[in-house]
Amino acid sequence: MSQRKTRVRFAPSPTGTLHIGGVRTALYNYLFAHKNNGDFIIRIEDTDQQRFVEGAENYIMEALNWLGINPTESPVHGGPFGPYRQSERKEIYQKYAQQLVDSGNAYYAFDTAAELEEMRKRLVEAKSSNQQYNAATRMEMRNSLTLNVEEVNQLLEAHKPYVIRIKLPENENVHFTDIIRGDISVNTANMDDKVLFKSDGMPTYHLANVVDDYLMEISHVIRGEEWLPSAPLHVLLYRYLGWEDKMPQFSHLPLILKPDGNGKLSKRDGDRLGFPVVPLDWTDPATGNITNGYREHGYLPKAVLNFLALLGWNDGTEKEVFSLEEMIASFSLERINKSGAKFDFEKAKWFNHHYLQLMSNDELAAELLPKFIANGYSTTEEYILKIVGLLKERSNFTDDILKQSTFFFDPPAAYDDAILSKKWKPQFMEVFKGWKDTFTEMCDFTPSQIEVNSKMYLENREVGIGSVMQPFRILITGVSNGPSVFEICSILGQSEVIARMETGLNHIAKLEKV
Ligand code: GLU
Repeated sequence: MSQRKTRVRFAPSPTGTLHIGGVRTALYNYLFAHKNNGDFIIRIEDTDQQRFVEGAENYIMEALNWLGINPTESPVHGGPFGPYRQSERKEIYQKYAQQLVDSGNAYYAFDTAAELEEMRKRLVEAKSSNQQYNAATRMEMRNSLTLNVEEVNQLLEAHKPYVIRIKLPENENVHFTDIIRGDISVNTANMDDKVLFKSDGMPTYHLANVVDDYLMEISHVIRGEEWLPSAPLHVLLYRYLGWEDKMPQFSHLPLILKPDGNGKLSKRDGDRLGFPVVPLDWTDPATGNITNGYREHGYLPKAVLNFLALLGWNDGTEKEVFSLEEMIASFSLERINKSGAKFDFEKAKWFNHHYLQLMSNDELAAELLPKFIANGYSTTEEYILKIVGLLKERSNFTDDILKQSTFFFDPPAAYDDAILSKKWKPQFMEVFKGWKDTFTEMCDFTPSQIEVNSKMYLENREVGIGSVMQPFRILITGVSNGPSVFEICSILGQSEVIARMETGLNHIAKLEKV
């Protein structure tokens, strides 16, 4: 028997920005497809016209492209199973909705919003355990099961608004196996005769999703946990449409939880706790509000992919750092956890630090040069290269290098006087003046030469190097911590170091007088 080709899809609705949970879903689909020499498809589920947001589809495509998780088929890439945008497939769904009505597995319902609300109230008042539109209630409503054929035809001809609902069995356990969660069984008495199609000619998510998964020959549905309650309905749709033997295997991914584990991570948590929860900056077209993204925050795609992959999956070892190729090689749906994964922003930063160190200094310098120039520094790539070499290890993000570099361009505008006055001793003035003079005589201003020269001088003067290093650093940079001060001096150059020491000592002289 020939095995079915692995075909998976990421099926976002273009209703706004893309939460990182959605990005993780896309990533897992991508990994699974590549692991099994299969196809990764992007299908845009835009049948809900009320929730459609301009620009959202482009945003999704741009985000996935930035991360390098590109599809084999999509609205942009095309492919043999297109169109890949549901709004362009309207006629297809109409046919299957009709087929379900004709086979007695779906029916027309004409109930108005007020009538539905009345039903709900009645059931609440009667303290009914079931407030759904299903076998227990449908015979009290206005639909093609309670009206006769002429009445139904009249209503349809008069273009009265209607919906087509699935007709669920009254009391049946619907079973299916979820690869991550095992056997699932739900009784139809607890389910709703969900709407499949509306009189505006548009299918709902459920019908369009199942029809497209079938027609696009999807072998595995890998999606968020929030769709688990819909799966039994989808199983019944496969049965009613006669496609049971082509039903995909389901995997419902765990939620991504807030850092404290209390509930689902939301966009608001990101704003509140100061970290991004979306891949790229997103401007809400209705309000103009901007949600900050990982890209603009300075994250590297490799770091985002790595930390997202581990939110709910591991390879069974302690290994944490994975390239995309390694993730593909080790990925399996069976190793995805059932329980929610706590979002850990510190870990995300840790990953970015790791991947930043793997970037070459040349690459970083080339990326940073325009930013330095935009910040008003007239400089060269050669100079930036030196700074990068020194600051990279102390940085989580490319921009951290920029932020820590002020003293490489400008002498201190202010000094850390609190530390200075604590560490400074009156006898240092003479020591520092002599120290400065030794710099004048140096011909090779390398970090090691500056260090050797300084140590020798201080030893001769019988001054412990430990007691003067912090004041020295403050005179040169204004601040009390940073990378090796000898390295800094070497980058600044002899005359600049001497000038800074002079200015710094004048500053201290004024301080001492106070
Ligand atoms: N359109 C659904 C969503 O936005 C897709 C769910 C599914 O993958 O079946 O999440």
